[in-house]
Amino acid sequence: MDFTPSSRAEEVRTKIRGVIREHFTENERRKVAETGTHHSWAFHKGLAAAGMLGAAWPVEEGGQGFDVHEMDALYEEAMLAGAPMAAFSTTMLVAETIRRTGSKGLRERVLPGVLAGETLIALGYTEPGVGSDVASVQTRAERREDGTWVINGEKAFTTSAEVATYVFVLARTNPEAARHRGLSLFLVPTSAPGFSLSPVPTLGGERSNMTVFDDVVVGDDALVGEVDGGWQTMLVALDFERGGEFAAEIRRLLDFVVDWAREHPSEVTPHMLRRLGRAAADTEIARLLGVRTTGLRALGKPSNLEGSMAKLYGTEAFRRHSSSLLDALGPSGAARGGALQRAIEHEYRHAFVTTIYGGTSEVLRGVLAERRLGLPRAGKVS
Ligand SMILES: Cc1cc2nc3c(=O)[nH]c(=O)nc-3n(C[C@H](O)[C@H](O)[C@H](O)COP(=O)(O)OP(=O)(O)OC[C@H]3O[C@@H](n4cnc5c(N)ncnc54)[C@H](O)[C@@H]3O)c2cc1C
Repeated sequence: MDFTPSSRAEEVRTKIRGVIREHFTENERRKVAETGTHHSWAFHKGLAAAGMLGAAWPVEEGGQGFDVHEMDALYEEAMLAGAPMAAFSTTMLVAETIRRTGSKGLRERVLPGVLAGETLIALGYTEPGVGSDVASVQTRAERREDGTWVINGEKAFTTSAEVATYVFVLARTNPEAARHRGLSLFLVPTSAPGFSLSPVPTLGGERSNMTVFDDVVVGDDALVGEVDGGWQTMLVALDFERGGEFAAEIRRLLDFVVDWAREHPSEVTPHMLRRLGRAAADTEIARLLGVRTTGLRALGKPSNLEGSMAKLYGTEAFRRHSSSLLDALGPSGAARGGALQRAIEHEYRHAFVTTIYGGTSEVLRGVLAERRLGLPRAGKVS
C-alpha cells in the first residue's frame, strides 16, 4: 500500500486553503454560528470560482476530472477548517445523481446553476415517523390526467432547505407495490405554491427544517430517474459513498487542544496528556479507515461497507474524544462564551449529531454484523 498523495491532491489542498482564507472569513464564520445555517454563500461562490463545484465531473461537462483522492483532499481541508459543507454535500450528491440518471432537459435546467454556485439542493428523505427505515416514506405523489404530479406530505430534517432552490423529495407513487418498489424521486422547487418550512434547531447548533408539501404541483420533468424506480436512483448515490472525512473532525478538535496545551504548559496534566494520546491514536485509525475506502473507490471496487466502518469509527471516536477532552479541560472547556467555547463545547454537542445523520451508529453496526460477519438479520427494533 502506498499512501503518498498524488501531487495534484496536494495542489487541491493548497487551492482550497486559499479559498477558505479568502472567502470563509471570521465574519462568515460568525454568521454560521449565529444562524445555525451551515452554508456560506461567499465561501460557496469562492468554491465555484475555483472550479471546485462538480470538480469530479469530466472537463467537457464543466468539471475538472478530479479523482477520488483529490475529492477527499477537498472535503478534508474544508472539514479541518470547520467550513460549512452541509449544503455543498447534499447539492453535489443530488447533482451527481441528476447528471447520471436525469433527462437531458433536467440536466440542462439544473446543472449549470449548480456549477455556478447559485443553486442549492436539500435532501427530503426523512419524515417525522420515518428515518433509518427510509423505504417506509408516506409522502404521496399522484399523477394527474394532464401528466403533472401532486405531492402531499411532511419531511423532517430537511437541512439547508432555507437556502435551497430545490428539495430532492422521496415520495410514494405506487402504494400497491412492495415498499421499495413504489417510490419515486422528484426535484421540487422551494418556490412552489404549497411548499412551506419551519426551522428545527439541533443539539449541534446546526439548523434543520420541517418541510410541508401541501398539494404541491410539479411537472413530469421534475422526476429524477424512473417512476417507481426511486430506490434504484437512491442507490446511485451510494456509489459516491465516503466516510473518511470524520477523521478530520477529530483532528480539528485535537489540533485545537494541542495548540491550547502548548500555550498553557502550566495547566497540562498527565491526565490530559493520556487523553490527547488516545485521541491521536484514534484520529490515525479513523484516517486510515478513510484512506482504505478511498483506495477501493479509486480501484472501482465496492466500498460501502468500508465507508460504513470509517463513518462508524470516526464519528464514535469523535464523540468519545470531544467528551474526554471537554472533561480534561475542566470548567474552562465547558463554559459557554469562553475562549474555548467554540472549539470544545460546540464540538462536544456537534459530535453527537454526526452519529445520527448519514446512518445512525446502531444501524451501521447492524449492517456490518450482517454483511461483513454474515450474521442473520436481527428482529425488528420496537
Ligand atoms: C442534524 C441532522 C441533519 C439531518 N439532515 C437530513 C437531511 O438533510 N435530509 C434528510 O432526509 N434527513 C436528514 N437527517 C435525518 C437523519 O438521516 C435521520 O435522523 C436518521 O436517518 C435517523 O432517523 P430517525 O431520526 O428517524 O431515527 P430512527 O430511525 O427512528 O431511529 C431511532 C433510534 O433507533 C435506532 N434504530 C433504528 N433502526 C434500527 C435498526 N435497524 N437497528 C438498530 N437500531 C435501530 C437508531 O439508531 C436510533 O437510535 C438529519 C438528521 C440530523 C440529526
